[in-house]
Amino acid sequence: MESLRSKKYKKDFVNTFDGDETGDLKPRQTPGVLYSKAIPTPVERPELLAWSEELANELGIAKPTDQQDIEILGGNFITDTMYPYAACYAGHQFGNWAGQLGDGRAITLGEWELANGKTWELQLKGAGPTPYSRRADGRAVLRSSVREYLMSEAMHYLGVPTTRALSLVATGEPVLRDMFYNGNAAYEPGAIVMRTAPSFLRFGNFEMLNARKETDNLLKLVNWTIDRHYPHLTGEDKVLLWFNELVERTASMVVEWQRVGFVHGVMNTDNMSVLGLTIDYGPFSFLDNYDPEFTPNTTDLPGRRYAFGKQPSIAYWNLGCLAGALLPLITKDQLLPALETFKEIYWKKFYAMMGNKLGLDQVKATDIELIKQFEETLSAIQPDITIFYQLLIELPLFMRSEEEVEEHFRDSFYSDLKPEEKGALYTLISNYLERLNTNTIKRQDSQQRMRDANPRFILRNYLLHQAIEELEKGQNTLFQELQEAIKHPYTAKYDQFFAKRPDWAGQKAGCSMLSCSS
Ligand code: AMP
Ligand code: MG
Repeated sequence: MESLRSKKYKKDFVNTFDGDETGDLKPRQTPGVLYSKAIPTPVERPELLAWSEELANELGIAKPTDQQDIEILGGNFITDTMYPYAACYAGHQFGNWAGQLGDGRAITLGEWELANGKTWELQLKGAGPTPYSRRADGRAVLRSSVREYLMSEAMHYLGVPTTRALSLVATGEPVLRDMFYNGNAAYEPGAIVMRTAPSFLRFGNFEMLNARKETDNLLKLVNWTIDRHYPHLTGEDKVLLWFNELVERTASMVVEWQRVGFVHGVMNTDNMSVLGLTIDYGPFSFLDNYDPEFTPNTTDLPGRRYAFGKQPSIAYWNLGCLAGALLPLITKDQLLPALETFKEIYWKKFYAMMGNKLGLDQVKATDIELIKQFEETLSAIQPDITIFYQLLIELPLFMRSEEEVEEHFRDSFYSDLKPEEKGALYTLISNYLERLNTNTIKRQDSQQRMRDANPRFILRNYLLHQAIEELEKGQNTLFQELQEAIKHPYTAKYDQFFAKRPDWAGQKAGCSMLSCSS
């Protein structure tokens, strides 16, 4: 274990690529460079609110023991070997080309080397302006920092590929936010998350170099990404192999989102990781009731581009943007077929995942109909999806009537079933039981498969909302409970949270709908 202040940080990225070294934080375009030096702006009173013990142990980072380490986590102290920078990237936002964006409030301090020689970027989010802050302040509020801190860790424990969060620090400074863009700006407490990942490179880093016709930089960045993060890919066609693998990783990531009911909320290409990690936690949500049209992002209305059910097609669209950015390096004839594999890969993984959720021994061609029937019936009835699958695990093998089926799933319903819905659910469950009868695995193995695929605890938005309200009043009981609960999503250990979203949270700001204003 090494302390944050005594570590010798690596800076391979800044040593490899051209950057703007002036340290000037004035907002501007930065053609020709991949990053700009950006020293965090000090904050008044950094106070450690949370520390991810297990992640720190994995990375070999010693827990802060005194104020000096906390000053690092708050952006007040930079060690000799750090080189703080903001990365320059572009992106497509809500389907439109947005040009240069960049890390407007994220600053990478350095690369933390592990015993195995691999490195993880340590990045502060909310540490003050960078040249990419445009008209914004480079800060983050407590509310959004708590959400990113807890949710990225929750996703990790759910088994979903994600960036991680090491610490949550209150800044002791207020931040002005107009949460719903309605002219009601108010001061909120500020906070900083230290997040970490092998790399925070996004599709948008590559799109920017292509848009600027910096083909040498583009080739260099692609080679760097492959050599460092995909070292098993070698040879003349390694760029194509990389794209193929990223298509597969992205498909896997989205299948995992669909498995646990996660809605990202802002799948712009600047929020898509080239390692296939869930990145940039903003107006995200888990589904409570099963509504494929649900988007948690107020900015995403009325189009609902980033709704739960659209995530696979948006991932494909985003990969298309990346493919476009790679055209100077590989031909369209090579890229297009690679891009087109997305659908086949996605559906194959999706059906396999659904087979596990349903406890099937294998997914046969005839099971596809059953899976579609689940989708249709659940979309119509919209039960609480987490509770529904938990009840499905315990389904008695003989169900005689519509009433019996309705009774079994009652705790998952948000409203009474209409007669035709009762009928549809009964037909679905009868078909399912018939299929379970043909399973070649034991019932308890099938149930175990379901327990492993269906989370019992999810970090619902209303729970986050309550924890944040408490924290803003200086109480951390619920926050700490949630910090533990996220580590046991597939068990009944935290069953005090095994409940539907309460009525009051259905329409409440911050519980159902969120804005990007964070
Ligand atoms: P997001 O939608 O959170 O991915 O952000 C889109 C862009 O806006 C990125 O370039 C962010 O760095 C930038 N951004 C968002 N919030 C802020 C902020 N408070 N200060 C500076 N830049 C920001
Ligand atoms: Mg972003």
